[in-house]
Amino acid sequence: MSFIETEEQKELRASVATLGERFNYVDYVLPKARKGEPLTELWNEAGKLGFLGVNLPEEYGGGGAGIYELALVQEEMAAHGAGLLLVVVSPAICGTIIGKYGTAEQKQTWLPALADGSKIMAFGITEADAGSNSHQITTTARRDGDGATGDDTGWILRGNKIYISGVDQADAVLIVARTEDSKTGKLKPALFIVPTDSPGFEKTAMEMDIIEPDHQFMLFLDDVRLPAEALVGEADAALMQLFAGLNPERILGSAMAIGMGRYALNAAVKYANERTVWKTPIGAHQGISHPLAQVKIELELAKLMMQKAAFLYDNGDDFGAAEAANMAKYAAAEASIKALDQAIQTHGGAGLTKEYGLAAMLGAARIARVAPVSREMVLNFVSQHSLGLPRSY
Ligand SMILES: Cc1cc2nc3c(=O)[nH]c(=O)nc-3n(C[C@H](O)[C@H](O)[C@H](O)COP(=O)(O)OP(=O)(O)OC[C@H]3O[C@@H](n4cnc5c(N)ncnc54)[C@H](O)[C@@H]3O)c2cc1C
Repeated sequence: MSFIETEEQKELRASVATLGERFNYVDYVLPKARKGEPLTELWNEAGKLGFLGVNLPEEYGGGGAGIYELALVQEEMAAHGAGLLLVVVSPAICGTIIGKYGTAEQKQTWLPALADGSKIMAFGITEADAGSNSHQITTTARRDGDGATGDDTGWILRGNKIYISGVDQADAVLIVARTEDSKTGKLKPALFIVPTDSPGFEKTAMEMDIIEPDHQFMLFLDDVRLPAEALVGEADAALMQLFAGLNPERILGSAMAIGMGRYALNAAVKYANERTVWKTPIGAHQGISHPLAQVKIELELAKLMMQKAAFLYDNGDDFGAAEAANMAKYAAAEASIKALDQAIQTHGGAGLTKEYGLAAMLGAARIARVAPVSREMVLNFVSQHSLGLPRSY
């Protein structure tokens, strides 16, 4: 493992930064977010430039690189305040799972379109009654036809989901459900591609109190009929398939948080160099400079862990990647929230004005402490898996 990025990675970083500058936070993202409008122009442009699909296989229109490169794209965009929440979902989770476990037809249908951004796939696992305890999800898929005689014509999906991001922009949602074993009646997790225009697929926008261009939805799947080929991978291997997508999700969430933290730190440093209320710029006061130096260190540490997680994942160490991705997500969320809070403090009253949008970004940065996995569930993972402590739940 090298800490020196390749020429290709450096060039990718530079071209993403150019796009991020063009669609920057204050001029483009913030006004859109305040109106609750998605970042469609930016998404399309990023797709055209090949940024959205850098991790997807070349034979399906992707860049043939890894999660490291997708994280690099996300971090650099977010460092301009232009991180794309749906990158975490569409190419990172859904693209990875379909790339690894999809049929040739599913790959052909979805990967080129996810790579160029012309199609978006949302991801739905969370349910109101299950929350962090995903083992308790109840969305159920039963055979549409007489499963007992092996006449498997398709599936009927019934259940509900909550907080699902970007469903209004998505062509389909990768739904985590359970299949009913026709013999034992036991439920096993399974993944389904559910088009958002399917009869019986109902979405309701949630009233969130964060200023964000993407929205969250409650879904009600009212006996949605799906063809047999809607199932991704094996009906009874979904846990492994799911984990293939969840590590990239955490790495990409970390990248977005680290990028936001970088944005906040840059804004704070600029302001601290310019603003003078005594004899020197406020950045000369250690009460301002030390907390910013701490933020810098914590962001760099989080980034190191994210890069380690991406490296392990891209090199096939899924177990090592899971631990590192959880730790990276924890560290990145904490560092970026602290960065935003300290950037606001550095700006004084200006930090709470609409002009800078830092308070709005703090709300968005706060998401990373809750989703895709909460801080406490990460600490549970580390307690049990890294430290071998017993669990309380
Ligand atoms: C902006 C946003 C976007 C999202 N997008 C998506 C999406 O696209 N797709 C999707 O499927 N989901 C999405 N989610 C859902 C997200 O993954 C969940 O909110 C998250 O997993 C937490 O679940 P919960 O909200 O039900 O909290 P709960 O599980 O009810 O937890 C509430 C609190 O209790 C704590 N807690 C729970 N169990 C334990 C325990 N055993 N030990 C210690 N503490 C515990 C939690 O850490 C948390 O602090 C999104 C959420 C948000 C806020």
